[in-house]
Amino acid sequence: MAFQPQLKILISRDEIAKAVDRLASEIERDYQDKQPLLIGVLKGSFVFMADLIRQLDLPLELDFVRLASYGAAKESSGKVRIIQGVTTPIKGRDVLVIEDIVDTGITIYFLLDYLKKKQPASLKLCTLTDKPSRRRVPVPIDYRGFTVSNKFIVGYGLDLDQKFRNLPDIYTLED
Ligand code: 5GP
Ligand code: MG
Repeated sequence: MAFQPQLKILISRDEIAKAVDRLASEIERDYQDKQPLLIGVLKGSFVFMADLIRQLDLPLELDFVRLASYGAAKESSGKVRIIQGVTTPIKGRDVLVIEDIVDTGITIYFLLDYLKKKQPASLKLCTLTDKPSRRRVPVPIDYRGFTVSNKFIVGYGLDLDQKFRNLPDIYTLED
């Protein structure tokens, strides 16, 4: 029989919306008189980013990167590579990276290092969720939506084997 994962609601769409509002207020306050370049990490962050930018009254610009760290499994391979890099010039820009989740930190550590080499004026990180119990490399998080426990989560952009990204709430996977 096909694998039937049990989904249990962890964070409701209302709670997400409130967190997005709060994060947008913090970001707006910190980037007054700036024109930040928001860089979304594909694919997971696209739903969060779409909601977040519509709460930001700033002359912002967008770009995306696509990285590979996870295969089809739930465990990080520990190796990261860039599948699609940024196309916007970054030198001298105020760059804000938008992530769905920081787990071991390996992916975002690699990305921040890649972006730092391009000499942005500033470089900050906003993540919807943070799983600190699994951290293997230190990652400075400037804007954090939720701290989550050590369970695999899906929904609101987050996937399991490319499924469940379209769920409006965030669920834990019970197997
Ligand atoms: P890290 O390199 O920090 O271990 O994790 C990088 C990526 O793994 C995240 O951007 C995300 O795509 C994926 N990931 C880590 N934890 C989870 C999780 O609980 N659920 C889902 N769907 N993806 C996760
Ligand atoms: Mg991701």
